[in-house]
Amino acid sequence: MSKLAGKVAVVTGASKGIGAAIAKSLAAEGASVIVNYASSKVGADAVVGAIAASGGKAVAVGGDVSKAAEAKGLIDAAIRNFGRLDILVNNSGVYEFAPIEGVTEELFHRTFNINVLGLLLTTQAAVPHLGEGASIINIGSVASSVTPPHSTVYTGTKGAVDAITGVLAKELGARKIRVNSINPGMVETEGVHAAGFIGTDFEKGTVAQTPLGRIGQVDDIASIATFLASDDSKWLTGELVRAGGGLR
Ligand code: NAP
Repeated sequence: MSKLAGKVAVVTGASKGIGAAIAKSLAAEGASVIVNYASSKVGADAVVGAIAASGGKAVAVGGDVSKAAEAKGLIDAAIRNFGRLDILVNNSGVYEFAPIEGVTEELFHRTFNINVLGLLLTTQAAVPHLGEGASIINIGSVASSVTPPHSTVYTGTKGAVDAITGVLAKELGARKIRVNSINPGMVETEGVHAAGFIGTDFEKGTVAQTPLGRIGQVDDIASIATFLASDDSKWLTGELVRAGGGLR
């Protein structure tokens, strides 16, 4: 029996990268999935196509998670298309590193709006629909504990995600809704390629500090998300799962 049969999931930022892999992994275990995108409809449609080709169910839904009405639209789409909601993966995120001299109001607001406010607005819209056994999975970052230089704004958002995960686990525990975070180390994604991290001293330094001796791949993270979505993790809430091959 598939571990997520009959369950419905919303995965934000699932048009590429870690979110796309999580959407496919949840669907492979039987969940019906809302595949959210902000700008990459083509990417989201490809993820939906791959899920359908494997016999799964998914729908692509556009929406900027940092806008309350659009975040609510994702949740409404889950109810409209699939009739319920059991799993929310708050994955949408942006990362742009800058030394303290390069921090701007624009960089701060953009990063915090998507990485933190977006998570709060999507969760706020989802909670009324979640019942006993539901799972919220936030995607944080190992950056919140490694604190790399030139990442004040990004790492600040992920420190906030850690704290919010703990708060929501306590706030929603009485309703038997679990809230956990996956904190990846560097993972090879479209976003990481676009940011120019691959092949740099930053990547080499990360690998050198990683006991398992490589950067992550999206499947390394997707399998953890599927575990946290399923009843296999039914006794876990408020946990921050470092997922960086031992990087800390
Ligand atoms: P990515 O390849 O750049 O993909 C980012 C996803 O977020 C895309 O689907 C993008 O949608 C979506 N997105 C961006 N802004 C959005 C918005 N306003 N509303 C809704 N969706 C939005 O990123 P990734 O590397 O997979 O990272 C995914 C998450 O993992 C992020 O939270 C990131 O901080 C975290 N993380 C990544 C790494 C890493 O090394 N890759 C490490 C630790 C943590 P569109 O493409 O449609 O615009």
